[in-house]
Amino acid sequence: MENPIEISSEACVGCGQCIPACPFDAIDMPEATAQIDLTKCTLCGACVPTCAFDAISIEEKAAADPNELGQYQNIWVMVEQHGGTIEPVTYELLGEGRKLADQRGMKLCAVLAGHQVEALSQDLIAHGADMVYLADHPELESFRDEPYTKVLIRLIETHKPEVVLFAATAAGRSVGSRAAVKINTGLTADCTGLAIDPATGNLLQTRPAFGGNIMAVIECPAHRPQMASVRPNVMTPTEPDSARQGEVITIDLQPEDLASRTKRLAFVPEAGSTVNITEANILISGGRGIQKPDNFAMIQELAEVLQAGVAASRAAVDANWIAYSHQVGQTGKTVCPKLYIACGISGQIQHLAGMASAEVIVAINKDPDAPIFDIATYGIVGDVLEIVPALTTECKKLLKR
Ligand SMILES: Cc1cc2nc3c(=O)[nH]c(=O)nc-3n(C[C@H](O)[C@H](O)[C@H](O)COP(=O)(O)OP(=O)(O)OC[C@H]3O[C@@H](n4cnc5c(N)ncnc54)[C@H](O)[C@@H]3O)c2cc1C
Repeated sequence: MENPIEISSEACVGCGQCIPACPFDAIDMPEATAQIDLTKCTLCGACVPTCAFDAISIEEKAAADPNELGQYQNIWVMVEQHGGTIEPVTYELLGEGRKLADQRGMKLCAVLAGHQVEALSQDLIAHGADMVYLADHPELESFRDEPYTKVLIRLIETHKPEVVLFAATAAGRSVGSRAAVKINTGLTADCTGLAIDPATGNLLQTRPAFGGNIMAVIECPAHRPQMASVRPNVMTPTEPDSARQGEVITIDLQPEDLASRTKRLAFVPEAGSTVNITEANILISGGRGIQKPDNFAMIQELAEVLQAGVAASRAAVDANWIAYSHQVGQTGKTVCPKLYIACGISGQIQHLAGMASAEVIVAINKDPDAPIFDIATYGIVGDVLEIVPALTTECKKLLKR
């Protein structure tokens, strides 16, 4: 096939059934038969079954030649840095990547893109990297999906890594999924465990499935590289060793690597959000049990006294009581604070998926059978609207704030 998707002009009768089936508005009927705009088409395939005349065909991408899989070597980590500061999740990925690389007898390599970021290379080496691929250019100063993805793809095509790990953050999710589609491989999102299958050497990628009720172990045996994303606070970083030695390879960037259809105009921090909940040591989290949005003021007051962040369950976020950036759980953020105070949160599995690894969990709930008490270190059965203000008063006295 000349194009990855084609409409046969002989088979198409111009019925137009495929046009509304395309979620990307990529099919049109300028003349008697349908035509696909390849600049809009994502090859999702939604149109194919709607054609009663089998006129639409998509090229099946072949699996990699099994003899070529062995050419893929080394474990890579895509570094997440913003403004010259490496995000903690990168160290977590390097810690996990180090274990995988040692098991495979391979090198751990970090891909570092940005501007004037060379000085960060030694830090990556101290945290376990053997090699750093450095893409340094003014056009890469702030994250943009297209150039970051293009740089990564070129590196992958040149050096053929066996595994590439990404942070399951907005940037990591964007680059990972784009790169996986372009180079025709699989990507397992939001992994909670990574291991090597001793029999095959394949990466075993564990992640929650079916609403968190089972853990699925996913393999990518026929394609390379194997790609996975991991949320912040799930893996453990290694202790840095400033004596570690490594190699820094500066990439010769081409203009086509840096081309982008978007440009960054400004950075506007989210209004009202003062603490990044993934980094807070203490979180006070409100759920549906706090009953109305105004009661987040009570949560906020306790948070201020304890110098904590404010988090929330999805029920509170869905009710528009607080912004999504505060949501903890399977479809929110994963947090690992020293202290998590769950206020009026029932403890459904999807919420626990984001906070169960907190060191100390205090649950306040009027229902003594609420599942949150199964994982709580300390439980307080009672009305959250009375207990939280009482806690705030006592903490103020104790901490003299
Ligand atoms: C695919 C999927 C993804 C999801 N992702 C997430 C996610 O990321 N994060 C998340 O949180 N949820 C998520 N959910 C939703 C999840 O299943 C629950 O619906 C949600 O966590 C419930 O929030 P809640 O505990 O605040 O509310 P509820 O389950 O309604 O619990 C409210 C609790 O407050 C208690 N209560 C009521 N009044 C008081 C009072 N006055 N004093 C003390 N206690 C009181 C009640 O006893 C109850 O236990 C997801 C669901 C699905 C299907």
